[in-house]
Amino acid sequence: MLARASAGAGLRTVLVEKRDFGAGVTSRSTRLVHGGLRYLERLQVGLVRESLRDRERLLREFPGIVEPQAFCLPVYRSDSRPSWQLRAGLALYHLLCLGGSLPPPRRITPAETLDLFPGLDRRGLECGFEYFDCQATYPERLALEAAMQAAECGAEIRNHTCATGFVVSGSRVEGVRIESSSGTDELRCALVVNASGAWVDRVLGRLPGFHADSLLSLVNGTHIVVPGIPGSPRSAVYREARSDKRPFFIIPWRGLYLIGTTESLFTGNPDRTAPTDCDIAYLIDETNQLFPSARIRPESVLYAYCGSRPLLRSSTGNLQAISRGHQVVDHERTDGIQGLLTMAGGKLTTAPTFANETLRYVIRKLGVAPARPVAPIPPPSMDGVPPRIARIYGPRAPELLRYLQQSHGRDLPLVEGCETTCGEVLFAAEREKASTLGDILLRRTGMAFDASYQSSWAREAAEVAGTHLGWDRQRRDSALEGYFKELSETLRDR
Ligand SMILES: Cc1cc2nc3c(=O)[nH]c(=O)nc-3n(C[C@H](O)[C@H](O)[C@H](O)COP(=O)(O)OP(=O)(O)OC[C@H]3O[C@@H](n4cnc5c(N)ncnc54)[C@H](O)[C@@H]3O)c2cc1C
Repeated sequence: MLARASAGAGLRTVLVEKRDFGAGVTSRSTRLVHGGLRYLERLQVGLVRESLRDRERLLREFPGIVEPQAFCLPVYRSDSRPSWQLRAGLALYHLLCLGGSLPPPRRITPAETLDLFPGLDRRGLECGFEYFDCQATYPERLALEAAMQAAECGAEIRNHTCATGFVVSGSRVEGVRIESSSGTDELRCALVVNASGAWVDRVLGRLPGFHADSLLSLVNGTHIVVPGIPGSPRSAVYREARSDKRPFFIIPWRGLYLIGTTESLFTGNPDRTAPTDCDIAYLIDETNQLFPSARIRPESVLYAYCGSRPLLRSSTGNLQAISRGHQVVDHERTDGIQGLLTMAGGKLTTAPTFANETLRYVIRKLGVAPARPVAPIPPPSMDGVPPRIARIYGPRAPELLRYLQQSHGRDLPLVEGCETTCGEVLFAAEREKASTLGDILLRRTGMAFDASYQSSWAREAAEVAGTHLGWDRQRRDSALEGYFKELSETLRDR
């Protein structure tokens, strides 16, 4: 988002990403674009307002990728929080999004709640509340789309390019050293912004002689994905977990159900986060308590994933109490190092505000006036775009549809039983900077997440993409090997 804002302001911008756009924590999230209802309990009204403003902005600027999602809060007589308190909280939540586009919350009777969720535990059910937030079905594509729009504004965007160190002169950072399949190089620039999310402390660790305290506390969260919940609800459920009162979501997602999440402090490498048996058992148990007829078992889980929340550093043991806010760190002020800013903390939802705040710092530090005004990107017309294409490709959908029509056979399924077409695989490789099968199956088409996914899809994608990318047989085999390794590291049990 920062690259998009900065290139939009006319600044010469280069974005380097060591894996692929959206491959980091963004791809491991609950995939919600939300105000954060529960932050109200902690009186973080400012953060909620900001998040709600960003929710509206993302909804407007990334139609299809960000869509409204109905939620239901079932209330039981035994709950510690009375229903009037929830009603008041939801009313405030709605009010804070002044002029927002989503419907207001409403109280629903136990019968209406059970109509929505036939399998819900009905013992002691007092009522339900329906309210709206948003879902980003593919935050991976949200990140990609932001990068592509940055490129359209003149930025240079490079995935599979790692910043391996800094170019330093005295106490000034003058660029970064980079490494990619084409070798190593140096990028010299007036200002470096470390926007590496959960990796910011590791990246700073590459500055010679840098010994400041870490900026983040990493808190791991696991999700499981299951094919069915009794009654196949279309609303999402939001509940406090019975065992530990943590927020707990069951969300309809691409015809499946996404269930999460857990919270545990993590001090390891965010490249290596994996769901534990204990996390999975917790999520299964909580779901079965709320939907007794679900009878989810470990074998029902299609796959699970885990990621590290990059939260601002805190010494509290209460992980829920750690701020979900963000901070721009100017290392000249904090550590006497010029030419370097770090973006610490933040949420997927607040990425637009965080980007704009950082851009203001950048402009001030560079002492330049933006060459052109930062105009909001007009949303494209999504008229006539099939729902599946709209949900995955968002603003890129009209371009994809034109591409599919340009040549015979592009609109045919990649493999029988697969909704993704050959043309989508080609589009990813030709127009969307995909260069590995993981880029294509996990972060462009999302095929790897489908309920009916088969490994044969990957083999066919290797043939189609390989022809375009000029891969010989050996290159196709090694691409497949790399993909299966990445898949097993990304989605447990896939
Ligand atoms: C379990 C969980 C649930 C969440 N749910 C939500 C939610 O529902 N809604 C919400 O708003 N937020 C949610 N979040 C938070 C949200 O996902 C993150 O705050 C957000 O995705 C961070 O975006 P980012 O771009 O800063 O980080 P990332 O997406 O992690 O991007 C940082 C990138 O930097 C790259 N990188 C690292 N080191 C280097 C290097 N040396 N050189 C080049 N590139 C490098 C990485 O590969 C990575 O792709 C959740 C987080 C977790 C873990």
